[in-house]
Amino acid sequence: MSQSRTPFPEIELLLLHGRVWTCDPRSPAADAMAVSGGKIVSVGGSAELAALAGAGTRVVDLQGRLVLPGFNDAHVHFYMGGDTLTSIDLRDAASPAAFRETMRRFAATHPRGEWILHGSWDQERWSPAELPTAALIDGVTPDHPVWVNRSDGHMLLANSLAMRLAGVDRNTADVAGGEIVRDAEGHPTGVFKDAAARLVDHAIPMPSQERIRRAILAAQQHAFRYGVTSVQDMGVLGTRGGETMVEVLRMYQALDREGALQLRISAHLPLPEWRRLGDAGIAACFRSGRLQLGAVKSFSDGSLGSTTAWFFEPYTDAPHTSGLPSEEMLDEEGMYRNLRDADRAGLQIAIHAIGDRANKEVLDLCGRLQAENGRRDRRIRIEHAQHLRPEDVQRFAELNVIASVQPYHCIDDGRWAEKRIGVKRARTTYAFRSLMDAGAAVAFGSDWWVAPISPLLGIYAAATRRTIDGQFPDGWVPEEKITVAQAVHAYTMGAAYASGEERSKGSLAPGKLADAVVLSEDIFSIDPIRIPEVQVDMTIVDGTIVYERGAAQEVVS
Ligand SMILES: [Zn+2]
Repeated sequence: MSQSRTPFPEIELLLLHGRVWTCDPRSPAADAMAVSGGKIVSVGGSAELAALAGAGTRVVDLQGRLVLPGFNDAHVHFYMGGDTLTSIDLRDAASPAAFRETMRRFAATHPRGEWILHGSWDQERWSPAELPTAALIDGVTPDHPVWVNRSDGHMLLANSLAMRLAGVDRNTADVAGGEIVRDAEGHPTGVFKDAAARLVDHAIPMPSQERIRRAILAAQQHAFRYGVTSVQDMGVLGTRGGETMVEVLRMYQALDREGALQLRISAHLPLPEWRRLGDAGIAACFRSGRLQLGAVKSFSDGSLGSTTAWFFEPYTDAPHTSGLPSEEMLDEEGMYRNLRDADRAGLQIAIHAIGDRANKEVLDLCGRLQAENGRRDRRIRIEHAQHLRPEDVQRFAELNVIASVQPYHCIDDGRWAEKRIGVKRARTTYAFRSLMDAGAAVAFGSDWWVAPISPLLGIYAAATRRTIDGQFPDGWVPEEKITVAQAVHAYTMGAAYASGEERSKGSLAPGKLADAVVLSEDIFSIDPIRIPEVQVDMTIVDGTIVYERGAAQEVVS
């Protein structure tokens, strides 16, 4: 055709000869994409788009590889994940001497006074498998308080400096539900088990801005490595989580202003902060290009692993309890007033609910709030929506409440969930298929740092439901499996909808942000059980390649 076309602006990036999975019903299949000004300007055929290349265009021949919209992780604890990445790694310490040497090297390269946390040591690798002690590491950590956990999280080791700062000595009384390991004279050796950990926990100071910066930059690289271009940050857990999250937000803003924030972040804050936000006139979707204020988040119950998820019926393996409502939920009227008023201030709401009772009560609160404040596009989200009574599944669709779920938990918890809640309740646990069939909006996330961040692992989990112990080769509760395409949708459009960004993200369509991921194989045509072998070859944000497999990664600092 000789027909003249509207000239495109200078094309920055051209992806050719691939398979572009657009998540856009208007142009479901394409093999090329053109980017200008950080936005997608065209999706179509390679022959046609190749003609747009100019002198400054970076042209990538995909050689048939699959392109998806960048993954959007709807539920992460980003600072906590990053802090783990930048902390000491004791998993490979195969002897007390190696443990001490790893500690010495780490302390020598980190500012004096900074707490050394995490670590994930495992004395079972040592022979004899004796617990480490403060005495083992005191000599190499005179200026660093140490508080490192065992791989299972149930015990921690403090050095003498940490114990001194925490005010723990031989006169410290034991704690119910925990143990202070002591020597023959009754002096604490440094190991604290379960509830006794709080004797030291309280002494950990707020992280410095420098520590937060390091963690966020490491977390950003980690996200890109797995094809994640947007995250929805649920904040920092623990006693000073709310305060810490405000500091994290401050650092996000600083990095954004410097141009060092490349990942897109929607940051949630604890519900009790709503008034401060509301008073400042900050409503939902306050944003820059990279950073936006997400929902205010609250909790209605605990977790399945600690038997604190709140159910109607008792736990099958702990018949004395049905779990517990959260502290916020105990004062249900107070919680409702907070939710209602935050909603009136124009803020989005997210509520953690795991057990079937917690989900039912939260759905009731959502119904009441909509009746009182009137219908609007408010996008209330329930985080986890883990165990649902069959009759509550439909209510997500009716009330337009988003199910923000984490498929990896399904193949992790699926190993033991039936023992805990019985076969019947397990039928509607992680009920992704039922929720989608009912017409509910479903967003996928990882819950990193608790679970791996990899969206491909999440897609695999949702499509196969094969538990990580290999006990369910055809899937645990197989009727709740979904297709790979549905899982990709939940990790792209579904997640974008959950943060109110579906107009700019979630699909590859002209006018949308040029955030995309290139995979080593076509996950739609291989057997889903092979998805964990698939590699992220390239991650693109704003039309810029921010990660390329095999290429030396630029370290931003
Ligand atoms: Zn979480």
